[in-house]
Amino acid sequence: MSKKIVVIGGGIAGLNAGIELLQNGYDVSLYEKNPHVGGLCYGYFKDGYNIDTCLHWLMGTKKGTVINKLWYNIDALNDDVEISQLPNFCTFIYGDVKVTFSRNIDEEEKRWLELSPKDEKAIQSFFGCVRSLGKLWDYMQNIERNKLSMDLIKNLSNSTKILQAMKYTREDYSKKFSHPALRFAIKNAMTGYNNIFFFMQVYGLFSVNDGNVPMGGAYYMIERIKNRFLSLGGKLYLNSKIDELVLDKNNYVKAARINKELVKADYFISALDVNYTLRELINNRFHSKKYDYLNRNINNYTISSCFCVYLKVKGFKNDIDIPTNIKIKKVKVGTKHIDSLLIRPYAFDKTFDYKGDSVISLFVDQDQDDYNYLKNHKNYNEEHQRIVVDLIKEFTQAYPQYKNKVEVLASFGPLELHEQTNTSYGSLQSYSLTDKGKFYSFNGKIRKIPNLYMCGQWNRSIGGTPTALLTSHYIVEKLLRREKYLSYFKKLK
Ligand SMILES: Cc1cc2nc3c(=O)[nH]c(=O)nc-3n(C[C@H](O)[C@H](O)[C@H](O)COP(=O)(O)OP(=O)(O)OC[C@H]3O[C@@H](n4cnc5c(N)ncnc54)[C@H](O)[C@@H]3O)c2cc1C
Repeated sequence: MSKKIVVIGGGIAGLNAGIELLQNGYDVSLYEKNPHVGGLCYGYFKDGYNIDTCLHWLMGTKKGTVINKLWYNIDALNDDVEISQLPNFCTFIYGDVKVTFSRNIDEEEKRWLELSPKDEKAIQSFFGCVRSLGKLWDYMQNIERNKLSMDLIKNLSNSTKILQAMKYTREDYSKKFSHPALRFAIKNAMTGYNNIFFFMQVYGLFSVNDGNVPMGGAYYMIERIKNRFLSLGGKLYLNSKIDELVLDKNNYVKAARINKELVKADYFISALDVNYTLRELINNRFHSKKYDYLNRNINNYTISSCFCVYLKVKGFKNDIDIPTNIKIKKVKVGTKHIDSLLIRPYAFDKTFDYKGDSVISLFVDQDQDDYNYLKNHKNYNEEHQRIVVDLIKEFTQAYPQYKNKVEVLASFGPLELHEQTNTSYGSLQSYSLTDKGKFYSFNGKIRKIPNLYMCGQWNRSIGGTPTALLTSHYIVEKLLRREKYLSYFKKLK
């Protein structure tokens, strides 16, 4: 009889672990606290409108790459899924000046040099790093990687500059540029609080044609993954919050407890925030020095959350680049006075069109301080509404053609993200890779609990869907190795 495995959490990590275990002949039951799977990668329909609360860009859309193969395995992507080919990672509007991070970095570099010749050194250094990281990404991710090309080796001459980039916040790095529009673009290059190195890496992979978005967004991608899980015989329990993992005297997990019910299994995989597993599921019986350290030094490993508003836009004219970041008058969101607003029209994807109208999201960054501030706010609901109104005002001031043509479909901030998924501080990623915080990685095991495995985006710096996917893939490999080892010794006996 096949061994039984309980997976806790139906985000990308839990679903991937479940599917890979089913493919290896295990009996898998997945417990998800919400009425739907997806976790932070959530898509749904509201009044006929497709709301994607996740996919701005997806690592591994490029065929022939390691991550792409894993997405194919769980049917997140397949040959019938159309992939967007947006020309720009982002467009920035600063007064009259438009700056883009386009896919063609050679042309982009020329445009930047024309805009600000006196920033030549900074521009060449920035694009040199992006180019090298793009080539390195292509090499590392290529399944058929066989030889180091001279082109790649030549490009690695930028390695000192790349290493130095780890020591810069985007804001500090932006000061290398004198043109205010370039400064604005670099400072707000992407969401979250990771260092400039991370953006260079992301822009690099975008330049080699990875990091696109599957059409249909999160909703259809998660539906495909869920269906793959079910078609392999996985048992899915929705609205099923696990309250505790019950340990025996040898520290084996005997059962997962849901209310008063005990669910027994041979192995347990907790595919959610490691902090939550340690604190809530095993009641602090074991500590992790790593996570204690990260939490004590949270200001150096700041988390990345957001405040988002989703709008229905009547008669969208395709006159805003996807996505666009604009300079705004300062708006208070959480503790911060935000001066940039990320606007994401979804009109490139027909599934976001409904009766001729389309969806646009407004996004601003938040962190742990904002989460704490909003949590302790005396009148949070009113504050939430005030933020929504202020952000819409900034949007319609910048694009007056949409005044009185927008309607709120959804809005959420750090508190709602935390409520939805138990992610610490409502973070949409794990701890950031900042100028002061180093890369961290957790192997998903507490040695004293042999049959408990942990995976998900919180196992590594930065997080995101690829981290959720990869860490769950590695944790399944780890579990399979243990099984092989156990059966070998059983045979010897
Ligand atoms: C606005 C936004 C934009 C984003 N943009 C991108 C992007 O462009 N690209 C990208 O790669 N990533 C993006 N992300 C991040 C991405 O969504 C996450 O990194 C990823 O989905 C995390 O997956 P996970 O499986 O590790 O964790 P989660 O998604 O957090 O899954 C954990 C699951 O466990 C469940 N759970 C929690 N506690 C319990 C319990 N006690 N019992 C049972 N179930 C429980 C939760 O409900 C959840 O379903 C974005 C996220 C947001 C919110």
